[in-house]
Amino acid sequence: MQAATIDNLCKFVEAKLVSGVKDEIRVKWFGGEPLLAKEIIVDLSLRLQNLAAQYHVNYNAVLVTNGYLLDQLSAQDISQLELKTIQITLDGPERVHNIRRPRQNWDGSYAQIVANITTLMQFYSDLVIRINIDKNNAPYIHELFLDLEQRGLLTKCKHFQFAYVDTQIGRYTKAAVCAEANNASEIVRSYAIITANLVKHGFAKYAPVSYPRVIPAACDAQINNHYVINPEGYIFKCLGDVTMPERAFYHLNSAKVINTKRECELQALNLCMHKLCSECAMLPICHSGCRAKYLDLNATGPFCRSHCHTLRQQLIAMARSKLQ
Ligand code: SF4
Ligand code: SF4
Repeated sequence: MQAATIDNLCKFVEAKLVSGVKDEIRVKWFGGEPLLAKEIIVDLSLRLQNLAAQYHVNYNAVLVTNGYLLDQLSAQDISQLELKTIQITLDGPERVHNIRRPRQNWDGSYAQIVANITTLMQFYSDLVIRINIDKNNAPYIHELFLDLEQRGLLTKCKHFQFAYVDTQIGRYTKAAVCAEANNASEIVRSYAIITANLVKHGFAKYAPVSYPRVIPAACDAQINNHYVINPEGYIFKCLGDVTMPERAFYHLNSAKVINTKRECELQALNLCMHKLCSECAMLPICHSGCRAKYLDLNATGPFCRSHCHTLRQQLIAMARSKLQ
């Protein structure tokens, strides 16, 4: 992000604060490896923290990282960035992760990431591991837990998340893998396989089981005053749009309004957007499906999120665990 874009971004945030947005400034650093631009992150953090202090709102931040450059993050950096949580992504045990997440020279990235996690844990405890899953790596996820246990890392992680990877939106719609990802039965099967293997190998308490909660919004695109800002200064509502400038609603540097139609459509769709939703017992817990997909794929389905497909199994697993 260039200096001019940083300036314009701070002006954008200040204008929001002046206009009466008075909750908090919450920042999520994102992008594969945001630590590639650590100096920019520090600079921008300090400026946003100053704005927060000036307008008497809270400031907090989260770092989502692929973990590869985590060794560049010191305890002092974490304190300076006011990081509430660091989320690190892994794609399975070493042999599976390295196939899915190779380096540019095709070497694996797992060993470096796990070494970085080990070092980070010596001075930071709010660490969340997000495990990216799909039908291909689901059978091997328990091996990752075995490995983390053998390295003494398992109990030190604050939380594990399982994220079903779905690329069936926007420009990725035509890829073969996307059509596979939209298969509800595959999502259910993947979670069932992971849960069964974790239970079988003594990791039941890490199984993806959670009681449904009432939440204010299911995804960031539904939240007022939530913005996804890319390094070129384009501002979006939906994270899935971030590589498509024509879908931005505003460009910071040229001060040009680009596509307000997309922004309005993402926010205007109601919970009952598809006819199947009006007859579905999951409402209002599910908060409806993915709005971007609904728009991009011509309203051809409700595009339920993965947790909707797995809720039944999760409730049964939770009831069983309570009875044991
Ligand atoms: S689970 Fe799917 S069909 Fe049911 S309300 Fe949610 S989005 Fe609609
Ligand atoms: S609209 Fe869909 S793709 Fe966009 S942020 Fe929400 S869930 Fe993600």
